[in-house]
Order: sequence, then structure tokens, then C-alpha cells
Amino acid sequence: MTLDLHADPVALTAALVDIPSVSREEAAITTAVETALRTQTSGFEVVRHGNVVLARTDRGLPTRVVLAGHLDTVPIADNVPGRFTVENGSEVLYGCGSVDMKSGDAVFLHLAATVAEPAHDLTLIFYDCEEIAAEFNGLNTIERELPEWLDADLAILGEPSGGWIEAGCQGTLRVRLSTAGVRAHSARSWLGDNAVHRLAPILARLSEYRAREVDIDGCRYREGLSAVRIEGGVAGNVVPDAAAVEVNFRFAPDRTVQQATEHVREVFAGLESEFTVTDAAPGALPGLTAPAAKGLADVVRAHGSAGIRAKYGWTDVSRFAARGIPAVNFGPGDPNLAHKRDEHVPLAQITAVTEMLRAYLEGNQ
Ligand SMILES: [Zn+2]
Repeated sequence: MTLDLHADPVALTAALVDIPSVSREEAAITTAVETALRTQTSGFEVVRHGNVVLARTDRGLPTRVVLAGHLDTVPIADNVPGRFTVENGSEVLYGCGSVDMKSGDAVFLHLAATVAEPAHDLTLIFYDCEEIAAEFNGLNTIERELPEWLDADLAILGEPSGGWIEAGCQGTLRVRLSTAGVRAHSARSWLGDNAVHRLAPILARLSEYRAREVDIDGCRYREGLSAVRIEGGVAGNVVPDAAAVEVNFRFAPDRTVQQATEHVREVFAGLESEFTVTDAAPGALPGLTAPAAKGLADVVRAHGSAGIRAKYGWTDVSRFAARGIPAVNFGPGDPNLAHKRDEHVPLAQITAVTEMLRAYLEGNQ
């Protein structure tokens, strides 16, 4: 299958959708992308590493921008090949990966071939196995074996964001709060001390809790503290001597994991007998004040069809943020349609993202 990088990115999206690329079966699409980059772009060094394709320019420009997209999809659900149709007066493309994230890939590939006078050096990263367990993610191999390919002043991930810039991401912390009591026969309950009852003040504090909202670089982050699991009970005639509630704190990226842990500890101070962190991942600051990121933000604000907002899920943006590189999600398609049988992308959004990104990469603001 030959991909035409000079074609309209809408047609290129459809061509990518028509090459099946479920995670671990990306060889064909990787080869198509590699061949197209080698034969239809100029000034790029192209490297294939497993099922990852890397390409970069080295024009000595003052800034470098990474454009990164995964080529794999979730399993196909009778939605390949893709299908164009009109819905409520607007043209859309249905198909597996049309949103997540072959339309973003198509925009990047098209711009690699057609940006005539770039204002930034470019690094393109097309990788495999993003849709399965993180340990298989193609970016892991690059981080380990070719880390210099990740260096940049700004990383743009083409994950679906409705054509908005979605910046940063919240951190997550899970804590198990255990209570201890004294076991007894429930017929003589006064001899015991009920650990489940001791959860009551913890739950009361959870329902009274006022989550914080905070603005960072113009993005509003909304925190949340929720009970996600509760355990307790021995038998129908026993006063239980142990109980636990697991809480999940989704915190804004101006807190570190340690600060988030301290905060949760303070919220429940004195109520639990054991406080155990079971899982934690840091957030990522939006980093939109960095000059390279600000340029993109200005273009998107000026375009009028889109804006800037906080990202709520966790994406590969965090990998770049952890390396001190400002990183954003910026791609066509509604993220809520990703992975769905009726996944589809409005064609106008593919065009709008291409226009905005072209203006940024050519230094027009
Ligand atoms: Zn994705």
C-alpha cells in the first residue's frame, strides 16, 4: 500500500485507516509510513527501529519540535475499511483509528512532506503498541535505546483532543486506609470494637471534602478525592476487627506525589490505623509558558475554532514532561469516541488542525 503524503490529509487518514494495525500487528503500516517518509520528504534522516519509525531534520534551527503518534489501534470492530458519510450536514470518516489516532498521524505525515520553510527543526516519531500495557509501548524502547531522539523544545502528541490543545495531566494517588477493632460474637457486641463502624468518620470526611480547582497556564484543573473500594466483614455473626477503604486522589500537577500524599494524610489524620500508598503517578505541568509552546498556543487561540484546556487522562505527554520537555495533546477527533465501534472524525477538524499546525511550524502566528 502506497501512502501519498502530498494528498489531502483527509485522504491520507482514510488510507491509514484501511491498513489494519491492531497492536502487535503494525509491521505493514510501519513499512508504509517508513517508505513514504523515505521517498516523499526531503531533508529528513529516517530510521526504523523495530516497529517504530523516526525521522528528523537537522537544519540548525533554534528550536526543535517533536511530532509523535502511535500507529496501532484497538481491535477492529467491523469498522475497517473506513467509510465517508455526511452527518447533520457535516462530512465525517468512520473507521477504526480514525480518531485514535490515524487522523493525527496523517496531519503529521502530510506536514512533514509539505512544510516548505520550517521555523523549527522537526522530529517525527511513529510508534507501536500504545493501546496495550505500558511495558510494550514503542516509546519505551526509544527512551532506553535512542533517548536523544526524544529531545525537543516542545512535543506534540497527535492524540484526539477535538482540535484543542490539551495540556498537562493530573496525577493520581491511591491510598488504603485501614481500621482496626476487636473481634467478638455479634450477640455480645459490647465485648468487641467494630472496625467497620470506624470507617464512618473516614467516609464522612470524604463526603464533606471540597475538591480544589486551580488554574495553571490558563488551564483549569479540577481535583477529586473518591472512595473507590471498601472492604470489611468476617461473618454474619461476628463483629469485624478489620476494615479498609481505598481512596483515589486525582490531583492537579502543581502538587508532587509527595505533597499529594501529605495532603491525603492530613485529610484523614487520626482516623485510620494504617495508611498505605498502593499506587501513584505524577501529573505533568502544562508548560505552556515555554516559548516554543507559547507559539503554538497563540496560533490555536487566534484560529478561533479551538482553545486550550486541561487534559484529564494520562497519556504519553507525561513521558516528555518527565524529561522536562513541554508536551501537549493536539489532534483531530473527539477523545470520547476513541475505541468505539462507531469511531468517526469530522473532516473539518482534520483540516483545521492541519492549518493551525502548518502556521505554527512555518512560524506564522
Ligand atoms: Zn491514542
